[in-house]
Amino acid sequence: MKKYALISVSDKRGIVDFAKALLKFDYEILATGNTAKLLSQNLVPVKEVSDLTGFPEIFEGRVKTLHPKIFGGILFRRDNSEDKIQAEENSILPIDIVCVNLYPFVQTIKKENVSLDDVIENIDIGGPSLVRAAAKNYKFVSILTNPDQYENFISELERGSISAKTREQLAVAAFSYTSNYDTHIANYLEQRFEFEKSHIRINEKLNRKLRYGENPHQSAKVYGSFDDYFEVFHGKEISYNNILDLIAAAELCEELGDNACTLIKHNNAAGAAIGAYPLDAYLKALKCDPVSAFGGIVAFNNEVDEKTAEKLNEIFLEIICAPSFSDEALAILKKKKDRRLVRKLKKINEPGLSARSIPGGILVQDKDLVTFNKDNFQIVTNRKPTEKELEDLTFAWIVAKHTKSNAIVFAKDKATLGVGAGQMSRLDSAKIAYMKAKEHGLDLKNSVAASDAFFPFADGLLEIIKCGATAVIQPGGSVRDQEVIDAANQNNITMVFTGIRHFKH
Ligand code: 5GP
Repeated sequence: MKKYALISVSDKRGIVDFAKALLKFDYEILATGNTAKLLSQNLVPVKEVSDLTGFPEIFEGRVKTLHPKIFGGILFRRDNSEDKIQAEENSILPIDIVCVNLYPFVQTIKKENVSLDDVIENIDIGGPSLVRAAAKNYKFVSILTNPDQYENFISELERGSISAKTREQLAVAAFSYTSNYDTHIANYLEQRFEFEKSHIRINEKLNRKLRYGENPHQSAKVYGSFDDYFEVFHGKEISYNNILDLIAAAELCEELGDNACTLIKHNNAAGAAIGAYPLDAYLKALKCDPVSAFGGIVAFNNEVDEKTAEKLNEIFLEIICAPSFSDEALAILKKKKDRRLVRKLKKINEPGLSARSIPGGILVQDKDLVTFNKDNFQIVTNRKPTEKELEDLTFAWIVAKHTKSNAIVFAKDKATLGVGAGQMSRLDSAKIAYMKAKEHGLDLKNSVAASDAFFPFADGLLEIIKCGATAVIQPGGSVRDQEVIDAANQNNITMVFTGIRHFKH
């Protein structure tokens, strides 16, 4: 009995050699128009799909393979007697190998000034159907969707036959390929049709493949209704790390309140500030660590205006997030084609759970939503904080809460001056914050400092005082609190206990 391999590829890399190799195993090659042309030019005997079906390719290729003889040949169950009878009655021959890759949709949308008609014509219809049909019938059919698969496939044929395991793996890769393809189409059309204006959402509940996880070798997905909170309406596809940093930026910004701006790198604040205008806040935040700001994520709580947009365009940023952007700001910001622009659609610091995966399960906890409450804190030193110190202490405390432990944050005039994050020792976090402030020419004299957890010994506090802080905020609760308070009094600084710890691991 004849054995068919169907080949229909847009990316024609390696296809001639692959087809030639299949001939050695007595496969008859079926192919669509241009694929068939290329193969016969290279002396590969090939039958056109239209010759087999007796139906021509029509509508400029919109309909090429959509025919019962093709889909029947792929889909009939080889071990089902009814299927076999029906196949025979309808002159349907088995197609055991399907090799398809799709119209280059992603390459098309990357072209400058591409017309919508061009984009639409590059939505493959028959291709994904072939891929899905072959993947569905993986028990009997092998589906190849990528030139990188050809070599191993042929080697396996040379060793005898294609194993069930290989066919299963190919099927999984195939479904992943088509789902990714459709996601690109949906995302692109959503933007192109400017659905963002009307907030019509294509996927109410997301289950979207991301390009990769924290690193390129980790595959990743996003589940849930992230799209209800953030609308990525311009720039490259959002990545796994982008999402984490975006949330870190937006959470801190939201808690800091009106006219805040946060600049996040790897989940921590490279800078945060509250200023009179978006521009003022941004410049204050940027000053804290302009070096780390490169490639960072910026969030605002208020509309981004033209002047701020101009400044934002001066450095490389991954994302700019705000509740809204003025039209003038958008015109400026959209000049950078790749940088993502995100609209924050609603409040995110709402009661709920946070989860982490662990071997065999997940760790779940309430979100850390306890906010600073002036009524709860205790001034433990002889010197009382001034009104201004109190404002800055509150500000620094919120930033420390959103910084990886151990966190030490120096601030003044509602702007961070130095952030020490994620160190194994609190002392090191203080040293790093100081070092960074110095590096960027910032003076910590008369600054305030926040620590996310208590000082187990006086040495951490003394380090901070040495750096120049004259007011400190920390949870308190150490057995050596008195020792720490004494050290504060000896140095005539003011210290506030919040009674609340904000570890963030
Ligand atoms: P060719 O270059 O051989 O003329 O066409 C190959 C491309 O056509 C492949 O990317 C394949 O996915 C696609 N294709 C195969 N059948 C159909 C069909 O019936 N309709 C459409 N729109 N594309 C198809």
